[in-house]
Amino acid sequence: MSPPLANADPYANFLAHDKEICAAIDRVLRSGHYILGKECEAFEEEFLAYLGVEHVVTVANGTDALELALRAVGAGTGDKVATVANTVTATAAAIVALGAEPVYVDIDPITMLIDAGKLSQVLNADKTKSIKAVVPVHLYGQVADMPAIMAVARAHGAKVVEDCAQAHGAALHQRLAGTWGDAAAFSFYPTKNLGALGDGGAISTNDKDVADKVRALRQYGWQERYVSQIPGRNSRLDEMQAAILRVKLHHLDSENAKREALAMHYLAKLTAFRATLPEVARGAKHSWHQFVIRTPRRDELKSFLAEKGIACGVLYPVPLHRQPGHLQREAHLPETELACAQVLSLPVHPGLNAADVDSICRHILAWALA
Ligand SMILES: *Cc1c(COP(=O)(O)O)cnc(C)c1O
Repeated sequence: MSPPLANADPYANFLAHDKEICAAIDRVLRSGHYILGKECEAFEEEFLAYLGVEHVVTVANGTDALELALRAVGAGTGDKVATVANTVTATAAAIVALGAEPVYVDIDPITMLIDAGKLSQVLNADKTKSIKAVVPVHLYGQVADMPAIMAVARAHGAKVVEDCAQAHGAALHQRLAGTWGDAAAFSFYPTKNLGALGDGGAISTNDKDVADKVRALRQYGWQERYVSQIPGRNSRLDEMQAAILRVKLHHLDSENAKREALAMHYLAKLTAFRATLPEVARGAKHSWHQFVIRTPRRDELKSFLAEKGIACGVLYPVPLHRQPGHLQREAHLPETELACAQVLSLPVHPGLNAADVDSICRHILAWALA
């Protein structure tokens, strides 16, 4: 169980909906159908209606969602995929699993999201057109500059797969994350804004061919039972998680509104704090998966708060190009490296209230003035 003021608290979120969740699990247990059944179909229908897209295909987790979406839009072995290095290792793991190689693009220092201008430079330098896809990550719950990203990717002939693992319900110009690219990948890991009580993932798209391809890939390449049309694999969402996600989807908007209220409260309380506070880009609706401040004394502040029983997160301490498993010594990403050295996530999940934020801010201000 998590400390009282943790950066995420899936157990508290279970307790907030325990009766509905237990009823959903009981319904699955008694249905006698446990994989790719009615719950999964219903969740796919409900999530596509929520997003306003034509197709949603569920898979086993967010990493698979990224990999299968990339495969379905046509990226594969020997190709390159442009993305950022300040993301969870999963983003690169999916690209590598595809047999492709990540090309890291530096970030905008304010939003900490992929910089469309730098993406354009990277694509222009790719004379052999080996970059077949771009994966913008809507980090912390803020949608990347999708109009610009789509334009530069289209000009290069590259496909776009959005990484929406932190952006369920986030939007830009009233258009939700997961509706901009050729396809998008969601994770339902328990700590996400829309979290299962186990692993889960999904792909959204308006392209029927992409949806059909993912549907085949997630189950051995079958289009009809026992006959593989393409060499697929097993990446299915189970009925139990689908039923739980149907409950959770129902509460997504109200929980995102709670996160937003907490974030606004932080911003109001922390104006006196001489650190960089999160900025919401114009036209953006943030899902506040993380509330991220920046300070050069990050590690010091993190330990100070930990002593007070406040568990903050660091997303992410080591950029991907500096990790042994994904090392790219030649990569030049100064803004990414600076962000990774300074970011600190303050607790912002819907199980908290304004008094929790008050208390966290009191400690932060005391630390800053000491
Ligand atoms: C959580 C996450 C993923 C991976 O999802 P899994 O379900 O853990 O595989 C991918 N990208 C980002 C940005 C994430 O936050």
